[in-house]
Amino acid sequence: MSPIQACLFDLDGVLVDTAVYHYRAWKRLARELGFDFTEEDNERLKGISRMASLDILLEIGGLAFNENKKRELADKKNEWYVEYILQMDPSAILPGALDFLQACRARGWKTALGSASKNAPVILRRTGLSPHFDVVIDGNKTSKAKPDPEVFLLGARELGVEPAACVVFEDAAAGIEAARRAGMRCIGIGSPETLREADRVVPSLQAVTVDGLAAWLQTEC
Ligand code: MG
Repeated sequence: MSPIQACLFDLDGVLVDTAVYHYRAWKRLARELGFDFTEEDNERLKGISRMASLDILLEIGGLAFNENKKRELADKKNEWYVEYILQMDPSAILPGALDFLQACRARGWKTALGSASKNAPVILRRTGLSPHFDVVIDGNKTSKAKPDPEVFLLGARELGVEPAACVVFEDAAAGIEAARRAGMRCIGIGSPETLREADRVVPSLQAVTVDGLAAWLQTEC
């Protein structure tokens, strides 16, 4: 297998915990529409696009709307979500994330963001994470949502690195599928039950070191 030349990071759930804000905003929308939306339901929304998330939410509530109304509902959810993320600061960065990003660079690996979120620029600005990336690919630059590999392939292309020399860090099943379809190795962040398709699963970036990762990938993948 090719030695690692680049690491690509999902944003929500890997570098920052914005999943809680997505959940809060979707729950508020569900309540307005007259049904309940649980944390378990929210798992199905992780990593997928805003409109695909709305479709799942409406399916849970047993509701159907035309495209105009759906756009209006998605905009409303996003307004609430943006209100929440504007309160974020660097303390929202998940444990181990900053150290790991810095260690990647120190080892000569390139770094890219590969997020489905159209709000990634706000989150990067609020948390001060922007300078840690060579390339940023987010929902504003892609046309196909995860599990389509577009976001990661675009990241590799902009970095000038072959997919086989990339490692993706992802917390959502859709993102892990996207990484695999891109021909990249993938480390799942979270629980092994939900991230079965990853090459390896760790609870957080705190549990990974660049040396450990390089050695492990050389022997196992
Ligand atoms: Mg995520």
